[in-house]
Amino acid sequence: MIDRPTMAIPKTPADSVQDVLRDPELQRVLTHPEHQGLELAHSRQIYTNRALKMEEIGLVGFDMDYTLAVYSMRQIEELAFHMTLARLVQKRGYPAYLEKLKYDHEFVIRGLVVDKDFGNIFKMDRHNHVGRCYHGRRALSLDERRALYQTNEKIRLSLPRFAWIDTLFSLPEACLYAEIIEAQEANGEKVDYHKLYDDTRESIDEVHRDGSLKSELRKDLSRFINPDPELAPALHKLRSGGKKLFILTNSLLDYTDAVMSFLLDGRMPEYPSWRNYFDFVVVGAQKPAFFAEHKPFVELAPNGAIARPQAEALERGKIYEGGNLFDFERLSGFAGESVLYVGDHIYGDIIRNRKASQWRTCFVVQELEREIEYIEQHAQDVQRLNELDALRTRLDDMINHHKLLLNAMDRRIERGGALPADIEQRRVREKQDLEKLRRAFKATLTEGYEVESRFEKGANDYWGLVFKEGNENSRFGEQVEDYADLYTSRVSNFLYYSPMQVFRSPRATMPHERVNLRRG
Ligand code: IMP
Ligand code: MG
Repeated sequence: MIDRPTMAIPKTPADSVQDVLRDPELQRVLTHPEHQGLELAHSRQIYTNRALKMEEIGLVGFDMDYTLAVYSMRQIEELAFHMTLARLVQKRGYPAYLEKLKYDHEFVIRGLVVDKDFGNIFKMDRHNHVGRCYHGRRALSLDERRALYQTNEKIRLSLPRFAWIDTLFSLPEACLYAEIIEAQEANGEKVDYHKLYDDTRESIDEVHRDGSLKSELRKDLSRFINPDPELAPALHKLRSGGKKLFILTNSLLDYTDAVMSFLLDGRMPEYPSWRNYFDFVVVGAQKPAFFAEHKPFVELAPNGAIARPQAEALERGKIYEGGNLFDFERLSGFAGESVLYVGDHIYGDIIRNRKASQWRTCFVVQELEREIEYIEQHAQDVQRLNELDALRTRLDDMINHHKLLLNAMDRRIERGGALPADIEQRRVREKQDLEKLRRAFKATLTEGYEVESRFEKGANDYWGLVFKEGNENSRFGEQVEDYADLYTSRVSNFLYYSPMQVFRSPRATMPHERVNLRRG
C-alpha cells in the first residue's frame, strides 16, 4: 500500500488561520461572485481514496471501452444479450422458446456473483456475507440464504464455482443465466447450472471475439455510444498542463479507430484526428495479461498489418498491439507513480494493475452519477437511517444495562428469598423500564427496515445500491475503496480540475473515533 503525507509543513512560520481570515481583502476574494457556484455537482466530482498530486504525474493513460467511450448501457447490453441467446439456441442446442426472453437491465448490476453450484446470483457485503440472492428470478428467503451460505465455510470467489460480474460487459451474461434458469425450470426442465454458465460465457466470448457484436455496433455508433462534448477539452487540458497521454485498450485497431474517430475527430481545431491527443497508442493489450506476462509490442501499419513484430521503441503517431508493463515503462520513459491509469474494469484495469505496478489509478464507474443523484434526492432517508442507527445503539446499551441490574436482583432472590420492599419496588420499575426500552428498540428496527427497504428499492428494486449492501459497503464498493486511488463517473470530470490538482483524501477515521458522532 502507498503511504504518503497529505500535508506539507510550511518552511516559514505561518500566520494563524483566524488572523488571515480576518483580512477584508481575503474575505473579498473568498466571497467574490466569480467563486460562487464553483462547487461542482457531486455526481461529477473526482473522489479520492489515496492522496494524489497531479503535479507528480507525467503520463496519463486511458482504457477505451466504458472509459473514454461511454456506452449507453441498456442498448449495448440488450444487443449482447440477444446475440448470445441466439448462439445458445442455434449452436448449443438450447430450446428455441428461449429466444423470446427479454433483457431486464434493472435485474443486473455490477458486483454480483454467480454461484454455479446452486444456480443463484447474489450480492455480497464487504465481509463476503451473502446479501440479496436470486434463483432464476425468485428472491431467496432469509432462511434459504442462511441454509446455503451461512455455513462455517468462508466464501472464496477465486473458486471455480463462482463468477464475479465485475465489468459492465458481463451484465448480459448474469441476466441470461437467471432468465434461462427461470424459464427452463418453469417448463419442468432440469438445468445443469455449471454447464449453463460455461455455455453462456463461451457464447458471449465468441460474440465479442468473432467481431459480430462490434460489426453491429459499428453500423450505428451513435445509438450505442454517448459522445461526451467535454471529453476533448478535458484531454486538451491535461495536455496543456504538460501531461503526456496514452491509450491502452483491449480492443483491436479497426474497432478502436472507429470508436475513437467517432469520439474525438474534429472536435477541436488543434486536434484533427483522435491520434493527435495521444503520445502512445496500444491496442489489443490483453489486460490483465498485459500487467503479468511478457508479450512483445507489435508495431502495426495503418491498415492493421504487422509492420514490426517486436518494436524496440514506442513512438508518437504509431500504433502498437499487445505489449507488457515492463517494456512499456522501459520504452515510454515513464514508470511507477508518475503514471496515472484511468479505467473501468475493477479487475483488469485496477486490481491487477495495482498488484503488478506502482501506477496510480483512477476508476471510472458510470453508475456513480445516478447513484449520487439518487442519494442526494433521498438525503432525508439517509439522515433518518443514521438517526435510527444511533438511537438503536443507545437503546441496545441501555437494555443491556437494565438486564444486568435485573439479573443481579433475580439472583439475589434465588439465593435468599424475598427482597426488601424498596428494592422490590425498584425491581418492578426496572422491569417496566426494560419493557419500554425493548418496545422502543423494536420500533427503531421496524422503522429502520421500512426506510431502508424503501430507499434501496427506489435505487434498484432487486439489488439496492451498487456501492452498498444494507448498512455495509458492498464487496464491489470495498474493492473500489481498497484498490483505486481516485474514482469518478466519467473521464471528462478532469475538465473541472487543474492539471496540478492535489487530490486529498478525507481524514481517515476508525470506529472508535466516530463514537461521539454516533451518540451525538
Ligand atoms: P477495453 O475496455 O478498452 O480494454 O476493451 C474491452 C474489450 O474487451 C472490448 O473490445 C470488448 O469487446 C472486449 N471484451 C469484453 N468482454 C469480452 C469477452 O467476454 N470476451 C472477449 N472480449 C471481450
Ligand atoms: Mg474498459
